[in-house]
Amino acid sequence: MLAYVSSPLNRAHDLRIRNEELSALRRRPDCVVVRVRGDQVEVDGDLPRRNVGAAAEEEEVFLGLAEDGAPWFAARAPESASLAPLRGLMLAGIVDHGLLSILAQARSIIHWHERHGFCANCGSATAIRDAGYRRACAACGAEHFPRTDPVVIIAVTHGERILLGRQAAWAEGMYSALAGFCEPGETIEQAARREVFEEAGIRVGDIRYIASQPWPFPSSLMIGLIGEAATTEITVDTSEIQDARWFSREEARHMLTRSHPQGLHASHPYAIAHALIAAAAGL
Ligand SMILES: [Zn+2]
Repeated sequence: MLAYVSSPLNRAHDLRIRNEELSALRRRPDCVVVRVRGDQVEVDGDLPRRNVGAAAEEEEVFLGLAEDGAPWFAARAPESASLAPLRGLMLAGIVDHGLLSILAQARSIIHWHERHGFCANCGSATAIRDAGYRRACAACGAEHFPRTDPVVIIAVTHGERILLGRQAAWAEGMYSALAGFCEPGETIEQAARREVFEEAGIRVGDIRYIASQPWPFPSSLMIGLIGEAATTEITVDTSEIQDARWFSREEARHMLTRSHPQGLHASHPYAIAHALIAAAAGL
């Protein structure tokens, strides 16, 4: 199952500028604060820690309201906190998908605050505003907003074949859909065609959108696509990826289920690449 796409919270954005109401919510005994530091999450034993009814800290972000009405906030975990990597918690399969999605929201936005204490325009200190969805510079008046970085990820098909590639740093035998960041001034389709051509030398024609996934390492939005190849001759740019190959649909199915005879495998089901390869393989 795709990770990070199942947040049960209502973001209740209208509350972000209503300071008195927000303060009252923060004082409720059922208020939950999750704390993160870098890509680590504060834990209690093996599971993410929910600080219920804790005292307010200096900089906190309002995440939203749960179905039971409980307000949820995020804060930076102190160095002394017991921490575990968010990725590891996901892979362990013991945290429910709703909580994982809340933690992804917390991790991405706290990461932004960790890196934006000073104004990119004039270098002065900035202050948190709008319950964490803006930072303001008193010196020059600049406003700064949390960033989300769009990434295109595309399974390219040619008839019965699927183009997949691998990076040198990945687990041995793993292949996945090609991906890359959208650049300023590009459409999603242009970014996808450029990335596939840069990495594998393949020209892509028609592209269709399949699904998206927030990817909190630190704050990407994966935009999942399937494209049709217009050419078939692969030229790998080894400065970007280690290998790219055409796989048959049958091979791709075995890679998804980890039953490929040569031990090759595709991305984990938590990642959108898995769903894209499955769709491209006709599953
Ligand atoms: Zn400034």
